[in-house]
Amino acid sequence: MLLTISTTHSPATDLGYLLHKHPARLFRKELSFGVATVFFSEAQNERATAALVVDVDSVGLVRNANEAFALAQYVNDRPYVASSLLSVAMANCFASALGGRCKDKPELASQSLPFEATIVALPAGAQAQEMLQRLFLPLGYQITIEKHALDTRTGSDWGNSRYVDLTLRATCTLQSLLQHLYVLIPVLDNDKHYWIGTDEVDKLVRKSADWLPSHPEREFITRRYLKNRRALVDEALLRLSVDAEDSNELADVPRESREEKVEKPLGLNTIRLDSVAALIAQLGVTSVLDLGCGEGKLLRRLLDNAQLKRIVGMDVSMRSLQVASDRLKLDRLSERQRERITLVHGSLIYRDPSLSGFDFASVIEVIEHLDPHRLQSFARVLFVHIAAKNIVITTPNVEYNSLFENLPSGQFRHADHRFEWTRAEFEAWAHIQAQTYGYQVRFFSIGATDPTLGSPTQAAHFSKRDAQLGVAA
Ligand code: SAH
Repeated sequence: MLLTISTTHSPATDLGYLLHKHPARLFRKELSFGVATVFFSEAQNERATAALVVDVDSVGLVRNANEAFALAQYVNDRPYVASSLLSVAMANCFASALGGRCKDKPELASQSLPFEATIVALPAGAQAQEMLQRLFLPLGYQITIEKHALDTRTGSDWGNSRYVDLTLRATCTLQSLLQHLYVLIPVLDNDKHYWIGTDEVDKLVRKSADWLPSHPEREFITRRYLKNRRALVDEALLRLSVDAEDSNELADVPRESREEKVEKPLGLNTIRLDSVAALIAQLGVTSVLDLGCGEGKLLRRLLDNAQLKRIVGMDVSMRSLQVASDRLKLDRLSERQRERITLVHGSLIYRDPSLSGFDFASVIEVIEHLDPHRLQSFARVLFVHIAAKNIVITTPNVEYNSLFENLPSGQFRHADHRFEWTRAEFEAWAHIQAQTYGYQVRFFSIGATDPTLGSPTQAAHFSKRDAQLGVAA
């Protein structure tokens, strides 16, 4: 595996400071899967080139793998192609540069400089050119692709291999160049044979928050980086959009707080959660699923309701689940209480068989966070697979927005809201779902109602038709 990075910045030897590597010395680092070496192949004032070479120990890789197909362990492309292992080596050898730090010349780290990077043997697939253009052109690179014939000796025409050498040129900071490579090399390598854990979401968000939210291929990149682990992909996309929001005009305000700030004077969050908790008590149900439970404020109320035998909170955000777990003091609950409540990581867009069989499911202030093109999947998951006997959905009533003093006209209550519905829009959507999936629906208001604009929060209570008739669901 070989990555070279060159600059023609003057003096080009500054690249040594930027990478924290002395141009005259060889740097060697043992990694769990082999050895990484960094050296300068040229270091003049006009041009300098640093090379990162990774020698993969293929026997070591096999020892650590649990592949079913034995031969594939020995005959594969892993030691030779640019893959996630190259990203791991970059993170190990260029940690400071990836983090945007330059100890001896701090001002260099934030400067845009002319860079050229070449990656050898990138597994870009059959549509290499198109794929590389989709990924790198929006980031401002000029790209040159060198294809290799599969067979150069016998004269047979087997066409080109799926591996290419890629050269990228741009004037940018070294940090952004390294971040782009760190994320996009594994995206190009579609090998599914390594484990993806939840900490990969953290790594992705940390290395891409500045550029991925505005990349036209962000969904594709996120999916491929996280190897299609759907709940992780949804979590990453959500966090990237929220983190991007945090970094703009709301930089100093903590997460989720613009909505709170707008609604706080009305105490709306408390009223909303109290009224759903009261409905649950009134219905006398024994199991509740809170979808998009956030920091667990409804769950806290439900724990006090002794009728409830089974309480489950689900959210796509690991961070929120961690806060929920701390707030609910799950680790300090008595064994009996502990058995009543579970937190699960998941996404409302995908089916999870463990989430069926509940008397009641709540979806409080979540639907407006979903992209409109995903509402259909959401409805199927909610009404067909989860299919609780009672379902309550709450969402902002956009008509009411003009009454919020601190919400500029035309803006949503939260920057991550993908839409906010009028009463007519919400009711029309809810009626279609009820009809399609065999539920009855009634609507209710939450918060003080304005005679013309309605209440700040609108809510729909769906109940299964056959359940109402007393027929087993
Ligand atoms: N219901 C809580 C939190 C509302 S904020 C309350 O009323 O206080 C919206 C929540 O929806 C966030 O916690 C967010 O992480 C979650 N969310 C967004 N998209 C989701 C999805 N696809 N699947 C599950 N949860 C999601």
